[in-house]
Amino acid sequence: MSAGQNGAAARDSRGRLAPATASTDPLRDLAKAVLEALDIPHAATFGDDKVREPIMTERVMHARIALEGVLERGDDPGWSADFLRARLAEHPADGYRHVGEAAPPSCGRCRTPFDSTDQSFDGAARSGATPWCRSCVDNCHEGSAEHVCVICDPARYGGDAR
Ligand SMILES: [Zn+2]
Ligand SMILES: [Zn+2]
Repeated sequence: MSAGQNGAAARDSRGRLAPATASTDPLRDLAKAVLEALDIPHAATFGDDKVREPIMTERVMHARIALEGVLERGDDPGWSADFLRARLAEHPADGYRHVGEAAPPSCGRCRTPFDSTDQSFDGAARSGATPWCRSCVDNCHEGSAEHVCVICDPARYGGDAR
């Protein structure tokens, strides 16, 4: 980095008073946009974090570009805030479950989320009032003499034998 003079980009001292209302302050608006970029919900699980990570990386990168544009290239902060928000909209914080969000009800054996539209004998719908899907119950009932699973022998799998 050179030790030359700083560009006089930030200050306009031509006798104009700053606007009284903070809401129209473009620097403040840019700060808010940067916060929006960084402040996305944490992932609920390790798997969700794998989805969140590249989203976060993109958002951090665009926030950095916006800040560098203002500080080093003299970009207008208000314009940069709008531009940053447009980039953020391309990388929304979705596609993963957020921490605190309830997990969808799923089969206690195979962990497949219940799908009430899949009512076939080996479907993913919940089997009656059980915590199991129809597929797992079918698999259990069709099992051979040696078959044992958490459904027919919960005690063996550390569950409570009610
Ligand atoms: Zn299942
Ligand atoms: Zn079984």
